[in-house]
Amino acid sequence: MPSIEENVPLKSFNSLSVPATARFLARVESIADVRALLSDSDYLDLPKWVLGGGSNIVLLEDFPGLVLWNQIKGIEVLERADDVLITAGAGECWHDLVRFSVTSNWSGLENLSLIPGSVGAAPVQNIGAYGVELADVFEHLEAVDLKTGEARLFSAQQCQFSYRDSIFKQAGNQYCIVSVTLKLAKKYSPTLSYQGLNAAIEQKAWSNPTVEQISDLICEIRSAKLPSPALIPNVGSFFTNPVIAEHELQRIRVQHPKIIYFPHRTGFVKVAAGWLIEQCGWKGRRVGQVGCYSKQALVLVNYGVQSGQEIIQFAEQVQLDVKTVFGLELEIEPLLIDRFFES
Ligand SMILES: Cc1cc2nc3c(=O)[nH]c(=O)nc-3n(C[C@H](O)[C@H](O)[C@H](O)COP(=O)(O)OP(=O)(O)OC[C@H]3O[C@@H](n4cnc5c(N)ncnc54)[C@H](O)[C@@H]3O)c2cc1C
Repeated sequence: MPSIEENVPLKSFNSLSVPATARFLARVESIADVRALLSDSDYLDLPKWVLGGGSNIVLLEDFPGLVLWNQIKGIEVLERADDVLITAGAGECWHDLVRFSVTSNWSGLENLSLIPGSVGAAPVQNIGAYGVELADVFEHLEAVDLKTGEARLFSAQQCQFSYRDSIFKQAGNQYCIVSVTLKLAKKYSPTLSYQGLNAAIEQKAWSNPTVEQISDLICEIRSAKLPSPALIPNVGSFFTNPVIAEHELQRIRVQHPKIIYFPHRTGFVKVAAGWLIEQCGWKGRRVGQVGCYSKQALVLVNYGVQSGQEIIQFAEQVQLDVKTVFGLELEIEPLLIDRFFES
């Protein structure tokens, strides 16, 4: 049985540093731990949710149930002729896994360097950066159904990955992901087309950068652009980029010819949410204990809120302005955790 603590302050468990308390928090280190908790009569009727590194959540209130803090570790490697299958425990640190792969000279994860959080949370919103998404390297994962205790494998198709989304984000914490298996290439097949990355490579005058060089470069770019949660509490991008039809883009371009957008699936584009927010005058602006980061408007920062509700109120003002000026809806990216967020 895992160790369980009562009335646990969660401020240090979330990168936004929002104060809230969990009635119970259990550190789970194996599938057996998860199952033991699910069948324990003391916790049977309590709401439950799975916590990783806490870098993509907004705590809205105290959680009256049991938090399963996923600390399942372990990395296994299966080398094949052309590729490598890596299976990592959900509680492994994502960036450590990336560094393990790039220093082994395996390709696929380098563009996803320095994304905070755990391996187990990576499929939840199909993490992505610099033109690569988890789905691009995903093989399968194993998860325990928090209602039945049954473990099952999910293929990429069953995960229903899309832009910053998956069945796990939609299912609202029905599963505890215990391990994730990724397929990495032995031969380097770089994805370098993303604008900011491309320009940085040109500046370095690299003709054939290595996997490790790209990972280092991405760490450098990200560190310059994004605030470290240890210094300025945040969850990275607070909103996803709105996906709109090309004809809608043309409508907006009439009034806003400089609008920034990226290619998406056929007939659609992703509009840069940070640009929209900046145009509405929010970059670097602070209201009470919440603000938009001075170097990247898409990142909301916490200057000392007493509740996650203050962050949501700030976000709603930003959403309203973007809606008024551009007619576009901004969707909040992190998961909002309240007493109803349960399995
Ligand atoms: C500075 C900064 C930069 C960021 N940059 C990026 C970026 O470039 N791209 C990007 O996609 N994201 C980015 N993020 C967001 C975040 O790092 C990712 O979403 C990350 O995958 C969250 O991992 P976590 O372990 O912290 O998840 P948590 O915040 O702990 O959890 C997030 C959600 O996943 C669920 N969950 C967690 N673990 C499990 C599990 N084992 N099984 C089932 N459900 C689980 C939780 O219940 C919750 O709903 C950034 C965040 C920060 C702070």
